[in-house]
Amino acid sequence: MVHFTCDLCGKDLTSSGERRYVVKMEAFPGFDPTELKEDDLDDDPMEAVAQLLKRDPALVSDYDSDVPKGFRFDLCASCHEKFLKDPLGRDVARSFDFSKN
Ligand SMILES: [Zn+2]
Repeated sequence: MVHFTCDLCGKDLTSSGERRYVVKMEAFPGFDPTELKEDDLDDDPMEAVAQLLKRDPALVSDYDSDVPKGFRFDLCASCHEKFLKDPLGRDVARSFDFSKN
């Protein structure tokens, strides 16, 4: 039997029989083909990567902003409800800001 727990609060969703909600997210670069300029086409992509590597190795360690990232979360009913109200956790981000003051 597949075992599910809430990815936010850790509640066991398998034995409790509680309804499970799946959240899928994708993150990828927004790309507007009309923004392509002739200069961009002349660039050698590998050369650009090499330049980037020279400039700041930390940038390319395990973060590649051009690779689409997919996320999948299992949520319990109450975490699902919270997620729908604030999908990006902006309330949490805001409260961090307040604590600095
Ligand atoms: Zn939960």
